[in-house]
Amino acid sequence: MCGIAGITDSSGVSLSLYFALYALQHRGQESAGISTWHDCSILKHKGHGLVSEVFKGDTLDFLKGKVGIGHVRYPTTGENRPENFQPFNFTFQGHSISIAHNGNLINMQELREKYERKGQFFTSTTDTEIIAKVIIDEIREGGEVVDAVRICMRTLQGSYSVIFFIDGILYAFRDPLGIKPLCFGRTRNGVVIASESVAIDALEGVMERDINPGELIEARGDTVISVQIAKSDRHAHCIFEYIYFARADSVIDKALVYDIRRKIGEQLYREMPVIADSVSPVPDSGTAYALGLSDASDIPFVECLMKNRYMGRTFIMPTQSKREKAVRMKLNPIKYHLIGRSVVLVDDSIVRGTTSRRIIEMMHDAGASAIHMRIGSPPIIAPCYLGVDMPTREELIANKKDVEGVRETITAESLHYISLKALVEIIGEPEDHLCNGCLTGCYPISIPSEQSSLRCIDFLDGSYQSLLPID
Ligand code: AMP
Repeated sequence: MCGIAGITDSSGVSLSLYFALYALQHRGQESAGISTWHDCSILKHKGHGLVSEVFKGDTLDFLKGKVGIGHVRYPTTGENRPENFQPFNFTFQGHSISIAHNGNLINMQELREKYERKGQFFTSTTDTEIIAKVIIDEIREGGEVVDAVRICMRTLQGSYSVIFFIDGILYAFRDPLGIKPLCFGRTRNGVVIASESVAIDALEGVMERDINPGELIEARGDTVISVQIAKSDRHAHCIFEYIYFARADSVIDKALVYDIRRKIGEQLYREMPVIADSVSPVPDSGTAYALGLSDASDIPFVECLMKNRYMGRTFIMPTQSKREKAVRMKLNPIKYHLIGRSVVLVDDSIVRGTTSRRIIEMMHDAGASAIHMRIGSPPIIAPCYLGVDMPTREELIANKKDVEGVRETITAESLHYISLKALVEIIGEPEDHLCNGCLTGCYPISIPSEQSSLRCIDFLDGSYQSLLPID
């Protein structure tokens, strides 16, 4: 997880990058950073915290330039230390590169050792720095950017949507399976590339399209050049982007996430009808699902939980007791909507079960007569290796218990998860174009001691590669 943006704008990029990162804040709250290209050098500012905390006062005035990139971080590899904050910036043999990445590499350790043997040294513990070093290595040996990206696509195993600039020219590429989203659009003065289309909306731009899996794009001013470097027979778009991670108002691979979630809510009712007094979301992640369920069932939509907007994330709190206390701070049951009533409670997912159990307990305590839990994803039974922060298998409640066991633990009167078949149909992509490793335990690339259903990549230069570990 992480949000990335890259902008060209003849009137300056720093304020636009700030707005774009603001729109992508849900993708990472640990750190934020912007680099721009001005007077043949990189200007940069990054720090710990939210976009609004990192960029204050005249920082944006300092970040002059017509090209720049930005990043918001949610760490999946590399600790939360300043040296891991992105974008990363390097100068080598008269060139300067600034790079930001969303995704997770499986073969980071092997690559790091390989490039250390070649004389590169590393200043962070992130996989993003490896991508930078692969690119730098190729350019140092006289290659062009397109050659460097081809080497990336041949050697990097995992998910990577990448935005970078070299000597003031903006580039972006997406891994051949298209695991993490990346799209681009146009504003009045240039081009915007971003993890999600909401960043383009924030700049009053017009979305042009998703960057294709395996595609490299180059943006100079308002001109965009595309090179398709590799093609895979099947893609592996992260299913969890649709379920939880992306903003509901984003359009990913041509589908509005809000519509998908609403349709899942409708289907949840069709799969397991229920009689109740009201339908309530767990705010905000359950809202679109709950509206769909209310529409399909004619059960009124009544909010029974109010969210404290100023409370941060509870999911990443270090201990179970802290997570449980934090849920109480974050969500307050509305007693007047609950006393003596039965409620269909709708959320996007159950991971550890902490949130659902605590919420249902609070709603029962507030006087609800029954809570029927409905979940917009199938049970999450396996960890994610490709960029979503998911706990270990042992912590995943659905890995240890069947649906009845989970229902009992969260103390709901009934529980139903959307079926995988319906979810895939609603997303509208063939199942083998989605990565649903967290729901099936079968991954689109080879992961030690896990099952995989591999994709084959065609490098469009006559060579093919199946995604087996490299030497
Ligand atoms: P849990 O208490 O572990 O069952 O948390 C589930 C809730 O956390 C769901 O309602 C989601 O909205 C949210 N969630 C699910 N996955 C993630 C994630 N990877 N990072 C942050 N929040 C998440």
